[in-house]
Amino acid sequence: MSIADNIKNLNKEIKLSKAKLVAVSKTKPAEDLQEAYDAGQRIFGENMVQELVEKYEKLPKDIQWHLIGHLQTNKVKYIAPFISLIESVDSLKLLQEINKQAEKNKRVIDCLLQVYIADEETKFGLSYDELIELLRSDEYTALKNIRVVGLMGIATNTDNEKQINDEFHELRVLFDGIKVSFFRKDEFFKELSMGMSSDYKIALEQGSTMIRVGSTIFGQRVIKHFKNN
Ligand SMILES: *Cc1c(COP(=O)(O)O)cnc(C)c1O
Repeated sequence: MSIADNIKNLNKEIKLSKAKLVAVSKTKPAEDLQEAYDAGQRIFGENMVQELVEKYEKLPKDIQWHLIGHLQTNKVKYIAPFISLIESVDSLKLLQEINKQAEKNKRVIDCLLQVYIADEETKFGLSYDELIELLRSDEYTALKNIRVVGLMGIATNTDNEKQINDEFHELRVLFDGIKVSFFRKDEFFKELSMGMSSDYKIALEQGSTMIRVGSTIFGQRVIKHFKNN
């Protein structure tokens, strides 16, 4: 099936849940993204800063770009002028740098805090304790040029659907608790990014508002040894 067909089918599937579809286009050529764009797709996710910037320069300017991979503080400046959402914030230090670069660009940058939910050592993210410590800190409260609009998580890469379901469920419960404790009056805190090609159906059942789907749209990726996938 074509990229356009894959997007159409996914949109049909997620329609009831009203979740957003992030087309994860890492490693794919700009032509593939253009094809998705022509089929109506406007949100794209990339995990490498340099690749994201190159594609941003080549492709239509109404695309909303999401960074979904581990971000080094020294690279924030390259995406700060245009990034729509940084989904993978995993430290206060990074959040402070995003705030600084956002201020330089006279804008507010939306972020998700990435929470570690998987039973694997390779996944980035904050533990529950670290998440709460961050949100309680004075350093965080002082940041005026970032906005935390929700949480992101990656489930364990396993065939065990019950385990994946449990991990997404836990993240959902955590999200609800964080909402009540820290963002009760903030309507913008509403995004729960969870689910990829192999597990987005389970994620939608657990209340995902944003699924990040790559191979189901664009086909399998050629294996490259990126540090974070
Ligand atoms: C690559 C990636 C995805 C998409 O993976 P697929 O299995 O191709 O759908 C989603 N989220 C993150 C963080 C990724 O790195």
